[in-house]
Amino acid sequence: MRILLVEDEERIANFVERGLKEERYAVDAVYNGKNALQMARINPYDLIILDLMLPDMDGLSVCEELRKNKMDVPILMLTAKSGVSDRVTGLDSGADDYLTKPFAFEELLARVRALLRRKKTGKVTLLKIADLELDQVTHKVMRSGKEIKLTSKEYALLEYLMMNVNQIVTRTMISGHVWNEDFDSFTNITDVYINYLRNKIDKGFDKHLIHTIRGVGYIIKE
Ligand code: CA
Repeated sequence: MRILLVEDEERIANFVERGLKEERYAVDAVYNGKNALQMARINPYDLIILDLMLPDMDGLSVCEELRKNKMDVPILMLTAKSGVSDRVTGLDSGADDYLTKPFAFEELLARVRALLRRKKTGKVTLLKIADLELDQVTHKVMRSGKEIKLTSKEYALLEYLMMNVNQIVTRTMISGHVWNEDFDSFTNITDVYINYLRNKIDKGFDKHLIHTIRGVGYIIKE
């Protein structure tokens, strides 16, 4: 799940970005409306968290612009105002939900989850292969009915493999889709994390699900 965070107040932006990353979401943060529109055009986000007051254009205009361009990504608006008319304006402009500052991170997280769930209604959010299950909304991973605790990077890697079940994913694909830019694609970071995953997912089970395709990459299959 990839989230675009649009917030010009550095303190809030950092706090939200850090919190969401700890919850294993992929987060891109931008600080003004123009960059937000640009990023939203390039990347298929699952959710946009949009501050109302931005230095160049306001959040309402960003929202309207996105909807005009037929982008139906869920939008959670952040605002310092709590007046009813602002709320109505926000929802009229195409926002899906509203959160008034200051807010507790747990409150933001609850809204984020609700919007992602709503978006995914009718779509598959539970990825399955054999007795392995990954819930893209709650980020819970189970094998044979037992929960497996993964770190955020292990989770991101497994989610990517499971989204491409029965298909080979190359190391280049993994570094492009899973790792943040601070990972050097020339290192063997992917192999290291595949090993961590194997220890948690496959170790002790008769049927191994993660397979190496020598010289190419990896595949998850029965
Ligand atoms: Ca602001």
